[in-house]
Amino acid sequence: MIPRTLFTAEHEDFRKSVRRFFAEEIVPHREAWDAQQHIDRKVWNRAGELGFLCTAIPDEFGGMGGDRVYSTILMEEQSYAGDSGVGFSLHSDIVAPYIMNFGSVEQKKHYLPKMATGEMVGAIAMTEPGTGSDLQSVKTTAVTDGDDYILNGSKIFITNGYLSDLVIVVAKTGNTGEGSKDISLLLVETASPGFTKGKPLKKIGMHAQDTCELFFKDVRVPKKNVLGREGMGFVMLMQELAWERLMIAITSIAGAEAALKHTLEYTRSRKVFGKPVAAFQNTKFKLAEMKAELAIGRVYVDRCLELVLTKKLGVDDAATAKYWCSDLMGKVIDECLQLHGGYGYMLEYPIARAWIDARAQRIYGGTNEIMKELISRTM
Ligand SMILES: Cc1cc2nc3c(=O)[nH]c(=O)nc-3n(C[C@H](O)[C@H](O)[C@H](O)COP(=O)(O)OP(=O)(O)OC[C@H]3O[C@@H](n4cnc5c(N)ncnc54)[C@H](O)[C@@H]3O)c2cc1C
Repeated sequence: MIPRTLFTAEHEDFRKSVRRFFAEEIVPHREAWDAQQHIDRKVWNRAGELGFLCTAIPDEFGGMGGDRVYSTILMEEQSYAGDSGVGFSLHSDIVAPYIMNFGSVEQKKHYLPKMATGEMVGAIAMTEPGTGSDLQSVKTTAVTDGDDYILNGSKIFITNGYLSDLVIVVAKTGNTGEGSKDISLLLVETASPGFTKGKPLKKIGMHAQDTCELFFKDVRVPKKNVLGREGMGFVMLMQELAWERLMIAITSIAGAEAALKHTLEYTRSRKVFGKPVAAFQNTKFKLAEMKAELAIGRVYVDRCLELVLTKKLGVDDAATAKYWCSDLMGKVIDECLQLHGGYGYMLEYPIARAWIDARAQRIYGGTNEIMKELISRTM
């Protein structure tokens, strides 16, 4: 493998503590959390205590002031641990940066320290029952009433939704008819009267992730809770999306690497016709193909991460990474499951969980079809 060059000794020390945290405090609870369809709320506070939330937020607002390599380490270690329940990366690396990059000083002081300690769990609500890919067509409205907006509508498939305390809601505040100019982002506290949450949705995978529906019935949101400026919502969303898509590429490569590792171990220990499965030429070639493809994907993703660090990652680069790496993840994990035979279909084997969890990677963060649409526009 081409050596990775992004990590300093501090990053590597951080990786060790994150790895220990997942092994000792997350993995042992997996079955219980899958069954209840959400992680225990106190895990958020524990992650905050250990400094694992909002690592890229400056310390004056409660974060660690780290670069996005720390965020990457957290995502990779979660993938290596085979966990899909904790929504730390969405909270720390999507929701918090919106507040950091576009929020007022008052908003930053009020929300970011609470997010960094885990006192508040963050979510972002774009998708609606009738609108996903076509974000400009959202129906949720926020209508001016004195110093407040009155928010009405609903959202679906919201990661961290059930345990959330603070949600960035994409809502229509204007009526120009030009979708992008009518959209604003509002910081909405889930304790507000009129805000209700559905039960966590029953998904095919990611069972411990508390993805749910949110409903707004005449929720009063103070105007000071608009992020950036009214009508700038779409512009802000576009600015953040490249990094958000790279995050999916990062977890895709790491998740597929973990699957390959499990498969290597399994095929070496399982004997068929008197020899290990790993000794058959078909197995060796499949494993070699997967290793080669992942090595190529890894180099591309690390290069994109370098561009993130210098704020130069382009929309098409990120779309390429998201689409190609999540497709690769699906292909690799499916091949790995096949090499496990019937055991690959049993949930007690990590490959089975990886297979069901991986499917969403091609859908959320903008579907892979939308990624190809974005890439084609740059040709
Ligand atoms: C586990 C999970 C977690 C999620 N978390 C969140 C979250 O935290 N916040 C949030 O807001 N949303 C979240 N989502 C929603 C996710 O982002 C949407 O499901 C996704 O953007 C697709 O929207 P949709 O489901 O409405 O599909 P649709 O937009 O209805 O698409 C249906 C099909 O049409 C295709 N299609 C659409 N437009 C085009 C086009 N122009 N050209 C070609 N094909 C097209 C799509 O690719 C897809 O195959 C989550 C979803 C899942 C599954």
